[in-house]
Amino acid sequence: MKLTDLVNDVLSAPQWTLFLDRDGVINERIVGGYVLHYDELKILPFVKEALHLLKGKFYKIVVVSNQQSVGKGLCQYDEVVQIHNQLNKELQKENIAVDHFFFCPHKAEDGCECRKPKTGMAFEAQKMFPEIDFKHSIMVGDMITDIQFGHSLGMTTIYVGEKEVLNRDQIVELADFSFENLYEFAQLFKSK
Ligand SMILES: [Mg+2]
Ligand SMILES: [Zn+2]
Repeated sequence: MKLTDLVNDVLSAPQWTLFLDRDGVINERIVGGYVLHYDELKILPFVKEALHLLKGKFYKIVVVSNQQSVGKGLCQYDEVVQIHNQLNKELQKENIAVDHFFFCPHKAEDGCECRKPKTGMAFEAQKMFPEIDFKHSIMVGDMITDIQFGHSLGMTTIYVGEKEVLNRDQIVELADFSFENLYEFAQLFKSK
């Protein structure tokens, strides 16, 4: 599918869902660490502007995030929920809150069904919002696991990220489209 066709389809069909990864897409990814408190969560530049452009164009906007900090005992499940509530409160001030934050609290070695690239969180989202149709969904992420997640569900996949990532070529090859960041992607929906 061409990019212009995708944008036109999103705008004309009512049921498109936007799945967003969190770390590296909405907020700065802490390399080698985790966001354990809300004050460590730094919203990336122009993310709010991006959400302004995207909000209302999709049936739902949901976040799907791997947070193995919980499984590693670095923070509690409820603390992650709190971080998401606070982030959404901040976004709500501008009417750009996301519809729900889904996260996997397990460690990589737990072998759960919800840690990306496994697809469990997509089905959780569908349980909460039954009109979600993966064929009419876009997954935006900054890691190959995000792209694999979207890919195996039949979603359109968007890679966003800096140029110097190690396996960038591999990610770009697998993703349907690539952008520098969420705002660059969101600009496709400008004044539409
Ligand atoms: Mg990420
Ligand atoms: Zn999990």
